[in-house]
Amino acid sequence: MEPVIILHHHEIVLKGGNRKHFEQVLLRNLREVAAADGTRCSLSGGYGKFVLSPLSGGVEEPLIDRLRKVFGLANVCPGVRVPQELESISAAAVDSLSGQEFRTIRVETRRVDRRFPMKSMDVSAAVGAVLCGKFGVRANLSKPDVTVSIEIVDGVAYVYSRRLRAAGGLPSGVSGRLVGLLSAGFDSPVACWRMMKRGCNVAMVHFHSMPYTARRSVDQVRDIARVLTTYQYRTKLFIVPFAPLQNEIVLATDPSLRIILYRRMMMRIAEKIAHMVNAEGLVTGEAVGQVASQTLRNIRIIDSAATLPVLRPLSGTDKEEIIATARTIGTHDISSEPYDDCCSFLAPRKPETWADAGPVTGAEEKLDIPSMVGAAVASMEMEKFVFPGSPGADRGAGTGGRGVHAPSEHA
Ligand code: ATP
Ligand code: MG
Repeated sequence: MEPVIILHHHEIVLKGGNRKHFEQVLLRNLREVAAADGTRCSLSGGYGKFVLSPLSGGVEEPLIDRLRKVFGLANVCPGVRVPQELESISAAAVDSLSGQEFRTIRVETRRVDRRFPMKSMDVSAAVGAVLCGKFGVRANLSKPDVTVSIEIVDGVAYVYSRRLRAAGGLPSGVSGRLVGLLSAGFDSPVACWRMMKRGCNVAMVHFHSMPYTARRSVDQVRDIARVLTTYQYRTKLFIVPFAPLQNEIVLATDPSLRIILYRRMMMRIAEKIAHMVNAEGLVTGEAVGQVASQTLRNIRIIDSAATLPVLRPLSGTDKEEIIATARTIGTHDISSEPYDDCCSFLAPRKPETWADAGPVTGAEEKLDIPSMVGAAVASMEMEKFVFPGSPGADRGAGTGGRGVHAPSEHA
């Protein structure tokens, strides 16, 4: 009986011609996650699942938790590999349930390897009978307390009773790159994560108003980037000083338009970065109607400063849904610390909620936009975050090893 983890693929099984590529990317990501955990293991399989076998020792819970966060997996099932013999399979099934409380069971068998002589139904019935006898429980096929799964494949059998839901989505990296506009608030980290879940790598850009705002706000954004790196393994974070540009806007334009003008500048700068990192579009965290700058009209005016598509995965969500996701992905506590937002610095008392293109264009004519964008890009810094265990990651330093964070490094 050897410990294994069965990793069922999510949507990638549907992807026809691309399937092979998707599986390769998923495999690479799984290797990084296992390596980060310090687990030496082999990964085999394909066609809908991988099987992780530790090369020494058993299967630890922290590794299981990490695997559940890997995009592209539907389920993570810790179990065992046994020879294709009914006795070994039954013994493994008994073993998988020991220590659990239950009154009803179901046994599910999938026989892919037709060389095994018994039919799936017969295996389930035989193993079910053994379990009922051993534990004094009954079979219940519709609503059992526990389900034992048996997969008969490739000359061996896998047996498990824990089927843990994983993150779903597409393997990180298969969908290309985006640039996410990241603040320390709740919304933009969730928006970036949502696009990561669709297989995108999200490079991030943060605008700060230091020295008018606190250094801690930038550190909060770094902390968020570290958490998000646990989902995509490599993150570039661009940190852009925004105060000089805000000063120019404040001096030259009507206060009510400030927020919109700030946002349009952010779009232009993010787009420049997108071209530098070969990104196909931008991501922001707006939800329609959430605050004044997020009316449909303002979103339209803000968007028109960019030529790349601006994806807003939260546009149709409520704050509660966003906060619930922030909790599950691990950014909630960082975002709930108070922080200085660059846009509350020099924010107008009455911001425009339904802007017209005319006045906005008029205001921008008073600004030398190319040189403002150029100066911002010239003064920005890039930091790289690498998942611990990835090639190039400095494992352990400052993070207590197994934690979520790799130290950042200046490029
Ligand atoms: P969040 O919770 O993400 O801060 P928000 O509800 O505060 O969003 P706004 O302040 O209107 O919304 O910002 C809208 C979007 O603009 C944000 O979701 C984010 O994508 C981007 N954004 C805002 N401020 C910054 C910043 N300082 N740096 C980078 N992007 C920003
Ligand atoms: Mg905000």
